[in-house]
Amino acid sequence: MTQPSRVAIVTGAARGIGAATARKLAADGMAVAVVDLDEAACAETVKTISDAGGTALAVGADVSDPAQVTAAVERVVTELGPPTVLVNNAGVLRDNLLFKMSDDDWETVMAVHLRGAFLFSRAVQKHMVDAGWGRIVSLSSTSALGNRGQANYAAAKAGIQGFTKTLAFELGRFGITANAVAPGFIATDMTAATAARVGMSFEDFTKAAISQIPVGRAGRPEDVANTVSFLVSDGAGFVSGQVIYVAGGPRA
Ligand code: NAP
Repeated sequence: MTQPSRVAIVTGAARGIGAATARKLAADGMAVAVVDLDEAACAETVKTISDAGGTALAVGADVSDPAQVTAAVERVVTELGPPTVLVNNAGVLRDNLLFKMSDDDWETVMAVHLRGAFLFSRAVQKHMVDAGWGRIVSLSSTSALGNRGQANYAAAKAGIQGFTKTLAFELGRFGITANAVAPGFIATDMTAATAARVGMSFEDFTKAAISQIPVGRAGRPEDVANTVSFLVSDGAGFVSGQVIYVAGGPRA
């Protein structure tokens, strides 16, 4: 337990990358607010952390809703203490080729990824400024470089990179760093849903992905969690405004 007094918020932490990140930050010694749309869905992540001797709190909130974000952060302050680590991880896909992409497909993806990261970062930065220390990590993606069928998602994930660099400029003087992690193919429910959408079994979809990945395997949620763990550590205090691709190669 290296940082016993730190409080972290991880959004979209009921499953996938967020759940692995919440577990890792708890193992690093942080008290972790496990935020997801449905509070009950956070129970498994919270139990895993508690069973391992850590501290976690399940918080239901839609990251795209300003009132719910404010209420969630207030609850974290009351029940765990002021948060000084934030991981903007909640995400959704609404993939479609441009000519078939609906207004709602576009707005939903922008709202969850971009407005969600904005609302949570704005709500927690005060506590970080008060503490003179803070860490914000937001999930981008290799799709930020462009990906067929993902005009909305690619735009949002590229937006996360510009958002992150701007936070790094604005908040650095308060001891706060902001970085983005951009995963490639990570085996989660999200990639399983993509396989289903393109009519492939998850096994075949994963094999096809691996054939393009230099290290020759699919990514695991823990690969991303380990990178986040470094970026939110004391030792990463001179790393800010960066995008770390966690993709088994330069791009996958
Ligand atoms: P996942 O398994 O689908 O988990 C995403 C979580 O976010 C779910 O628990 C989901 O809740 C939650 N969520 C969705 N909308 C939300 C909202 N409005 N408010 C609060 N929580 C919400 O996805 P993942 O694969 O772990 O991805 C995590 C992050 O990494 C995302 O930002 C994703 O874009 C990014 N990423 C993933 C990959 C990959 O290969 N998996 C690659 C690059 C980037 P529900 O279950 O209720 O919808």
